[in-house]
Amino acid sequence: MTTIAANLQAVRARIAAACIAAGRPLEAVRLLAVSKTWPAASVREAAVAGQRAFGENYVQEAIDKKAELAGLDAEPGLEWHFIGPLQSNKTRPVAENFAWVHSVDRLKIAERLSAQRPPDRAPLQICLQVNVSGEASKGGCSPAEVPALAHAIAALPRLRLRGLMAIPEPSDDPARQREPFAVLRRLRDALDIELDTLSMGMSHDLEAAIMEGATIVRVGTAIFGQRN
Ligand SMILES: *Cc1c(COP(=O)(O)O)cnc(C)c1O
Repeated sequence: MTTIAANLQAVRARIAAACIAAGRPLEAVRLLAVSKTWPAASVREAAVAGQRAFGENYVQEAIDKKAELAGLDAEPGLEWHFIGPLQSNKTRPVAENFAWVHSVDRLKIAERLSAQRPPDRAPLQICLQVNVSGEASKGGCSPAEVPALAHAIAALPRLRLRGLMAIPEPSDDPARQREPFAVLRRLRDALDIELDTLSMGMSHDLEAAIMEGATIVRVGTAIFGQRN
């Protein structure tokens, strides 16, 4: 077994154990493998080991990787998620090359993605990114903006708003890790529109996120290794 295959197996076991601890069904949580900075060969290795959904932060890097994988048997079933900061001059290649965008945090970006989503593709699946830790440097809308933004995005024709996403300030204390995830869950639950997705939890805190209701965990380091 390759290192990536073994790491994937270990991450799946962590997710399963957390689901059991949380009293949630195993199929309630999807694993998004965050392949940013890793080459197409690493994505392929994970795909051969059964991984289907991949998260990327940089538009051009992702497009290059997709092109490299295009001839491979593993590629057609792969699902690409954009999870990085998104500027308005980069929305078109994102609208054209991804199935999901987790990092929408303002209406202008959502409007452009909707206008630029090719008509022959399924609607672009969207998460609204929320800055739950209040860090000035972080992307994401403020919690107070969530209801109005969620309604505006849900009304756009070529997008499908699925849920909320957060990247909380890292903490080593499992009890403290859960607080921002609980904030995101309560924001979702307070909305009068039905959203089935909470994109939260990474390599170091996926258990805490699953305890608070994560439906997609975004895991890079624990699968592919430490990034440079
Ligand atoms: C890089 C990244 C991840 C993965 O983080 P790891 O700590 O490597 O698991 C998850 N989400 C986002 C938005 C990222 O940029």
